Parts: sequence; structure tokens; C-alpha cells
Amino acid sequence: MAEQTDPKPSYDVVIIGGGPAGLTAGMYAARASFRTLAIEGSSSVSQITATDIIENYPGIPGGTNGFELVENIKAQAVGFGLETASGDVTSVTKKRWGEADGWEIAAGEQRYGTLSVILATGAAWRHLGVPGEERFIGRGVSFCATCDAPLYRNRDVAVVGGGDTAIQEAIYLTHFAKKVTVIHRRDRLRATAILQKRALANEKISFAWDSVVDAINGLDLIQEVRLRNVKTGEKRTLPVSGVFIFVGLTPNTAPFRDLVAVDPGGYITVDANMQTSVPGIFACGDCTAKRLRQVVTACGDGATAAFSAQLYVEELKGETY
Ligand code: NAP
Repeated sequence: MAEQTDPKPSYDVVIIGGGPAGLTAGMYAARASFRTLAIEGSSSVSQITATDIIENYPGIPGGTNGFELVENIKAQAVGFGLETASGDVTSVTKKRWGEADGWEIAAGEQRYGTLSVILATGAAWRHLGVPGEERFIGRGVSFCATCDAPLYRNRDVAVVGGGDTAIQEAIYLTHFAKKVTVIHRRDRLRATAILQKRALANEKISFAWDSVVDAINGLDLIQEVRLRNVKTGEKRTLPVSGVFIFVGLTPNTAPFRDLVAVDPGGYITVDANMQTSVPGIFACGDCTAKRLRQVVTACGDGATAAFSAQLYVEELKGETY
């Protein structure tokens, strides 16, 4: 059977993801007059929108919150002509568009044709996988301090993890909770020095070092976590009303793992130009394999990915100059 071809896809660039990386890519591509669409997930939001304060984004002394920053980037991008759509992308399939190779993207019932694709799907919070964790989500287990901290006014809560997120959120929680216990599996934090210093000096924060959570217990709501010291084997119970889990990220790349090369953690491998293993597909932001996951690096990646996609599309169209 002859291969089905369509004369022209609707878009030059389709970006999958509506966080800082994807929207910055959208802004650059749209501003360069490429027909550009960003598809935002309908069942997930960019992680950064749940961050109460971003104080290391250049040019905003005093900081901003994640939701505001993303909304501003989006408004700026739409102002340059970026189109947006909502939907959970399930596949990206190769398709011949007239003379050129391109892609068809499926999101629910919708199909989007494009000459190039930018994957900017970000990452989601990793779960601990202990008894009680899934059962008590929304009833004491939380992955978002900004969303849920006010529910724990004058209560005792625990934070699991020792990275930037855990420590930043533990500090935020002290504005509401009576006491915050940071449970960390080692005896030193991974978080950046300035956050460590603030947490260690905060009278409301105490630490359960070398400890892991074995179980989260309660009736209707959480009442306690079962802790185990990984060095001594000692087990104990910590009475808490809430457990905030920040033990790292897992990339949102499941639909693309047979499409482009990923590392053993599932992060998409890219070169310095944000090119994936497949010509015409680029990736940027937290879903890619890289050392530093920050808003500023996500935005930088997004700009680079858009520029690379532009060069690719110009070459496809024979418009390289
Ligand atoms: P992360 O840096 O990967 O830290 C995860 C933490 O969870 C580590 O302390 C790790 O312990 C612990 N952990 C992992 N698996 C665990 C398990 N199964 N049980 C118990 N503990 C476990 O993740 P993150 O803190 O979410 O940060 C993600 C990225 O965002 C990082 O690049 C970070 O720098 C960035 N970020 C930056 C800021 C900021 O600049 N203000 C704020 C938030 C996030 P080990 O230390 O023993 O490995």
C-alpha cells in the first residue's frame, strides 16, 4: 500500500510540555515566525508552578513564585504568536508530509502535524514505595508544600529527602507547622549550602539522620511514620500529621522511550544543541539528561532547542541562508 502523505503539516515546530523550557522554546520559535504550537499536559502541571519562591532566577531580586513566572513566560510567548493546546500526548509517529519527513503527534482524539518536535515534558516527583504512601495521598501524604502547608498549622510534620527541594520546602513549612522533622537517609544533606545553613539554623527544624521511612500509618488520616536507622538498624515511631515527600524526580518520558535514546534513568539524551538521537526531534529542560535542573537552565535549553529546530526546518524547506 502506498505511504499516506499530506501536502503540508499545520506546524513547523510542536513543543510537548508547558513549563519554563517548553514555553521558552515556544517564545523563541514563534518570535522567529515559525508556526509553533505548545501542547500542555491536561493531567499534569509543570512542577515549578507549585514552588512558592524562586529566588535565583536572574533579574528578579527578591524572587517570584513559580506559577507567576510560568504564566508570564506563557503570556510573553503567546504575544509573539505561540499557539497552545491542552492534552496528554501518547505518541509521536513519523509521517511523510509531501516532500518532507515530519511527525504526527497524538493527544487524545487530536492529531497535530509538524516538521519538528521539541520534547519538554519535565519530570514528576518520585515516590518512596512504602506501605501507606499511596493510601494516604491527600490525607497526610503530600508532594507539594506550597499547596498543602496551610493544612498543617501548629501540627508536627515530616519531610523526607535531603536535596534542594526537601530543604526549601521544609523551611517553607516552618511558617505553618509547629515542628518539621527532616528525615534523610544519610548524615549530610545534598542541598545547596545556603539552604543547608538556613535549615540548620531554624529552630523549628530537626533532623532524623541516617533514617528511612519503612511505613506510614494512620486510620483515616496519618498518625505516624515508622523510621529505621540504616546504620544501627534501630526502629522508632515519629508521630506526625503530615509527610511531605521530596526524594527526587522521575522524568515524564514514558511515551518517548522507544522513539529517542534515553539514559538508564529514563532521561532523554541530547547534545549541546538539544538534538536527540533522532533528527528533527529536540528536547529540553528537566526531561533531559543533564547536571543542573533549574528554571534558568530549562529556559536556556528551551531557547537552544528552538533555534536548533528552526535550523532543521529551514533546511527541510530549502530556506537555509
Ligand atoms: P535530588 O537533588 O535528586 O535529591 C533527592 C533527595 O532525596 C536526596 O537527598 C536523596 O538522598 C533523597 N532520596 C532519593 N531517593 C530516596 C529514597 N528512596 N529514600 C529516601 N531518600 C531518597 O532532588 P530534588 O531535591 O527534588 O531536586 C531536583 C533538582 O531540582 C535538583 O537539580 C535541584 O538542585 C533542583 N532544585 C533546585 C532548587 C533551588 O535552586 N532552589 C530548588 C529545588 C530543586 P541522597 O542525598 O542520599 O542521594
